[in-house]
Amino acid sequence: MLIFASAIIFFSCNKDESNDSPNNETIQSDLPPFPYLEVSESSNYEIGFRVGSHFKFQINEFYRRAFADKINNPESPFNGLSLIEILISFVESDPGTYYDPFYDATQDRFPEYLEELKGVADGAEISFKTIFTSACQLELISLITSANPNTSASLTPLIKGCSSVSYSNADKCFLAHNEDIFTDFADLMFVIKVEQTGKPTFLSLNYPTGAIGIPPGMNDAGVVYSGNQVDIPKAEPGVPFVFLCRAMLDAGSINHAKTILESSNPAYSTHFNIGSFNENKIISAEVMPGKHAFHIVDNFYAHTNHFVLPTMNELSLETENSIARRAFLMNEYDNYVNKPDEVTADLITNWMSSHDGYPNAVCVHLDGGLTVAHSMFDFQNKTWKLYRGNPCNKAFKVISF
Ligand SMILES: [Zn+2]
Repeated sequence: MLIFASAIIFFSCNKDESNDSPNNETIQSDLPPFPYLEVSESSNYEIGFRVGSHFKFQINEFYRRAFADKINNPESPFNGLSLIEILISFVESDPGTYYDPFYDATQDRFPEYLEELKGVADGAEISFKTIFTSACQLELISLITSANPNTSASLTPLIKGCSSVSYSNADKCFLAHNEDIFTDFADLMFVIKVEQTGKPTFLSLNYPTGAIGIPPGMNDAGVVYSGNQVDIPKAEPGVPFVFLCRAMLDAGSINHAKTILESSNPAYSTHFNIGSFNENKIISAEVMPGKHAFHIVDNFYAHTNHFVLPTMNELSLETENSIARRAFLMNEYDNYVNKPDEVTADLITNWMSSHDGYPNAVCVHLDGGLTVAHSMFDFQNKTWKLYRGNPCNKAFKVISF
C-alpha cells in the first residue's frame, strides 16, 4: 500500500548501517519490533481514541510531514502545494463528489469503523475531515486524475509496492509479505493488539495516517491478512479500501472474510491475501467496484500490484515494476516446483530479500521509498515473524497469541 509521493533517485542498501539488528536494545524482547500498544475497549470509538491518544506524536508528525511535502515543479498545476492540501481543496470545492459518497457508503456498511476513525482523530487531536480525506487518498487521486488527465503526473505516486508470496500444501502453509511505502512512514509505524467485544482480538501493524489495519495483521481466530495496492482507471462511490482492510482483521474465518468482501461495496480496487491458521488455507481476493474474484492458493502464488486472475487481469493498471517483481518471485519458485520439502519460511524470506532487478527489486531500497516491514506468517507454528524494515536487515521478532 502506498501513500504520498517522492522521487526515485538512487539505490542505497543500508544493510550495514542499520540500527535495527535483532539484538538492538530498542527492540524489546517478546514484543513486536515497533512501538506497541495493547488496548481492550468495548466500543470502536474507544479503541480509536486509545490508539489516537497513545500514538498522538506519530500521527501528528505524519500530518506535519504530509503538509510540508510540497510539489516543487513549475510545470505542475499544483506547484507549491502538498498532496494532502490538494485533496482537501478538492473535497472542499465539491464535497458531493469527493467526500460524501465515501463517507455515506462507509456509514452505511461499516459505521463502527467510522466511529473508530473518529476516536483516532479525537485522541490524536487531528481534524476528522483531514484523517478521513487521507483515508480516501487512493480513491480521490483516481477521481481527480480521471477527470483531469493533466494532473496525473503530479498526483500519481512514482513508487508502487508490496510483494506477496503464498505457499500452501498439505504439510505447510506460509504467507509472506513485503510492505513497501514512502520513507517518511518508516519511523512512525506502530503495532497494536486490540481486544474487542464480540469480535476476535487482533494484532496489526499500522501506518501513522490514523486508519487502523492497512499493513498486515492477524487475529486470535487464526485469520491472517496482507494487502497489495492495485490501481484501476476510476474510483466509484463506495467504501474506501482502507475500511475493507480493517474488516479483514475482524474476520472469523476465510468464508467470513469472503462474505465481508462480497458485501463491501468497494469504491476502489485492491488485492488481499487471506489465510487461516486453523483451516491451513490461503486465498487471494481481487476486489474492485462491482466485481471480485477469489482464488484458493495451491502450492505457490505470488502477487504484486496488478490483477492476475482470469476475470480480472484486464481491469487494473499494470506497471513494469509490478510485473517484474512478480516474475522474479515466480522464477525463484520454479527451482522448487518438484522439491516441496525444501520450501521453508526462510527460503521465501530470502527471495523477498532480493535486490535483483533494481529498481524493480522485491526488497525495496529507493531514495523516497523502502520496504518498511516484512511479514512471514507460519501456519503450522501459528506465528508472525515481523521484520522491522527491509527483510535483508534481519531485524525481527516472532509474535503470536
Ligand atoms: Zn534489501
